[in-house]
Amino acid sequence: MFIDTHLHLSYKYGETPSKYIMESNANNVKLLIVSACDKESMIESDRLLEEYPSLYYSFGFHPEFASSISNDDINHLVNSISNKREKIVAIGEIGLDYHYGNENIQEQKNLFERQLQISVDLSLPVVIHSRDATQDTYDILSKYNVFGVIHCFSGSLEMALKYIDLGFYIGIGGVVTFKNSKLQEVVKNIPLSKIVLETDSPYLAPSPYRGEVNSSKYIPIIASKIAELKEISIEEVMHVTTSNAIALFDLKI
Ligand SMILES: [Zn+2]
Repeated sequence: MFIDTHLHLSYKYGETPSKYIMESNANNVKLLIVSACDKESMIESDRLLEEYPSLYYSFGFHPEFASSISNDDINHLVNSISNKREKIVAIGEIGLDYHYGNENIQEQKNLFERQLQISVDLSLPVVIHSRDATQDTYDILSKYNVFGVIHCFSGSLEMALKYIDLGFYIGIGGVVTFKNSKLQEVVKNIPLSKIVLETDSPYLAPSPYRGEVNSSKYIPIIASKIAELKEISIEEVMHVTTSNAIALFDLKI
């Protein structure tokens, strides 16, 4: 079986979870780790976790909310994790995003560091979002004794190897299937033992569905591209990346 280690699931995307989960299952994607990175998704998880046993969650505030997160929100995050500890398997996605400008860089860094400290306190892995902020993300992560995954990795081979040295896995998604993607060179040169698969659904659908709504059911397309790049079988990609995800998130399955 495959595991999709990073997706967003919400009724606002128009799918019902049962159809989405059924289609994923039919494509051998049996466990889904949903990223709840705003309050609405965290609250929605209560009901979805009860209904769908194949779901796990990561909880953490995305940097885009850095200017609006209160102490109460942080307390809500910590309490929710303590209440559902066996199903909330990571803190994330958290990190830095300078794509839309840099007026609130300090607020982003503060929120990022607060949540890194929570992951240290709770011994949970972190799911890192980093966009146009490579050096700052790396520098902050280096200060904390944390482990986890660099979600939707899009940097250089050198950067991937530095993150691996720091104790991180590299999250590979649909971008690897795009024509002339620089990620292909990265995937060829990092060990499979450090790769986990993800879709970031509903965003970033792989070729030939680029531009459409993404789904966890496309995980085998990503695995197949990795197999081709590494000149190994898709079964090997499946077995190794699934074991990686189980180990990283300490999934009790
Ligand atoms: Zn995401």
